Amino acid sequence: MRKLFIAGNWKMNLDAAAAKELTTGLKDNLCDCTAAKVDVAVCPAYVYVPQVVEIAQGSPIAVGAQDVYFEGNGAFTGEVSVAMLKDVGCKYTILGHSERRHVIGETDELTNQKLLAALAGGLDVILCIGELLEERQANQTEAVIERHLRKGLAGVTKEQMAKVTIAYEPVWAIGTGQTATPEQAQEAHAFARSIIADMFDNNVAQETRIQYGGSVKPSNAAELLSLPDVDGALVGGASLKVQDFMGIINAGASTCGCGCQ
Ligand code: PEP
Repeated sequence: MRKLFIAGNWKMNLDAAAAKELTTGLKDNLCDCTAAKVDVAVCPAYVYVPQVVEIAQGSPIAVGAQDVYFEGNGAFTGEVSVAMLKDVGCKYTILGHSERRHVIGETDELTNQKLLAALAGGLDVILCIGELLEERQANQTEAVIERHLRKGLAGVTKEQMAKVTIAYEPVWAIGTGQTATPEQAQEAHAFARSIIADMFDNNVAQETRIQYGGSVKPSNAAELLSLPDVDGALVGGASLKVQDFMGIINAGASTCGCGCQ
């Protein structure tokens, strides 16, 4: 049974005071019972990571970065290394987010270099995959998912896959308010899992968590998170408000069916 994993991607939002308030609010509202059912992480902009780590200390909230560079150190102006993120208490990094791919122009090859460096250096990875609207309309969804997985995970061992979460994020659903239907999400997740089984084995595929991302909110979270192949959510806009992010986390916890909520 895969434990749900819900992560907030704060993108280039908030200032120091707002990041503090949000982290404190989440810490105060996340009870042990919910944390036992749902892993929770937040991914602030680099500059706020140390402060968020400090506030989250002693709570079940893990902290991640939104990106990392693959080189260890040296003349890479503007970049941040895996060791630096480890040094300030990061557990995760997001990689291959659609905004890195389609706004900044990162390739599958660069994403893969970053992913291999992150895993080698001890960071867990959330690898984002997913198609553009025109790719879906041209029936390319499965081809894009397969390419992102095969190229993004090239060179990863079966053992390392325990440190990898996949986030299926159809680009047309990110920040648009347009969510994939449960059928679309389940179909894409099941397909992604079949590719992971082919690349590694069925055991790895069954253990790998696949988050859904794209306009997840409290009102649609329970339905999405109860799908058989959806193991959590990567949340943008709704992770910026305590009430909304907690609503999603609590919706996830309520899908476990243990009746304790
Ligand atoms: C994201 O940033 O990965 C994301 C899914 O954003 P939103 O929830 O706002 O669509």
